[in-house]
Amino acid sequence: MYSTPKDILQMKTDFRSDTVTVPTPGMLAAMMSAKVGDDVYGEDETVAELEAKLSRTFNMEAGLFCPSGTMTNQIAIKCFTQPMDEVICDQTAHVYRYEGGGIAYHSMASVRLLHGPRGILTPELIAPEINADDIHYPSSTLVVLENTVNKGGGACYTLDQIAPIRELCKRHGLKLHLDGARIFNALTATGDMAHNYGQYFDGISVCLSKGLGAPVGSVLLGSKETIQKARKIRKAFGGGMRQAGFLAAAGIYALDHHVQRLAQDHQHAVLLADALQAADYVEDVMPVESNIVIFKVAKEYSTAAVISSLDDHGILCGTTGPYTIRFVTHLNITEDMVAHAVRTINNLKPFRNS
Ligand SMILES: *Cc1c(COP(=O)(O)O)cnc(C)c1O
Repeated sequence: MYSTPKDILQMKTDFRSDTVTVPTPGMLAAMMSAKVGDDVYGEDETVAELEAKLSRTFNMEAGLFCPSGTMTNQIAIKCFTQPMDEVICDQTAHVYRYEGGGIAYHSMASVRLLHGPRGILTPELIAPEINADDIHYPSSTLVVLENTVNKGGGACYTLDQIAPIRELCKRHGLKLHLDGARIFNALTATGDMAHNYGQYFDGISVCLSKGLGAPVGSVLLGSKETIQKARKIRKAFGGGMRQAGFLAAAGIYALDHHVQRLAQDHQHAVLLADALQAADYVEDVMPVESNIVIFKVAKEYSTAAVISSLDDHGILCGTTGPYTIRFVTHLNITEDMVAHAVRTINNLKPFRNS
């Protein structure tokens, strides 16, 4: 069996998430030289520059820098709903599953969960779930899409799929929010232009701390009016930051230097998926569209045994359920690490159940 070189074992190859990236020397240098001020007073020019840069990129009027993607999403949901309203999203949605029950807690709204294939919604799926105006029903006021769909194995919407959803929302007076934690991965995969997104959404949340490699931060994009309201909600959430320009500088650097390279992460994901497809401990690999690979463990093996065998060879990965394992590629995953992972996947002999 292939034996793992010591240096790789010591330096674990971390596929658990694209959030594990650490700033590059270039990014750190940009952070160190950032011009900063008190952003709660509106005096941090680097934060203002980041917000303006991303708004221009997506053709939206304004932006708001926040500490996390959870905060940008939850602020957007609070902006676009009233208590007793209902939010429509897929059952895999991060805003529903992984944000600590924030929709109920912050916005006092209920959630209507749909079952899109790999988390991808269509007008046909959404339309019948929009409540009629009736005192029995919560008011449907907001649809949330996720692009890429994290729990859908990084599945992507194209703008052609989004346009008819926007039309439906308009007809029914619903707002449309995009959880774009990995929107740049979606743009890389689909070839759509960021500039064309603004017209379709009332809010867009963009994460800088995922595949883009910044240490902290997300930006909420929207109309001037939405962002003004969002700024007040951010304050109430405790998310008003002072000399945040050091962090915003990392975001600007990431947008300038780490977007082009995302295609490489996607190629790495395909290499991992191809190897997994052939392994006898793998039942099924979800189609790979971006930087996420999710596979189902074959019945004769336990998920924990597969994870610990990989760990023995210095490879870390995560789970998305009791039988599913997730690999995420990112900035800190090199070609050599992928080659090592592929060899390990090919040769792995995890413990069988019986
Ligand atoms: C990571 C992520 C977020 C935001 O997460 P934070 O850890 O709060 O920054 C939102 N949506 C999706 C789909 C994500 O993967």
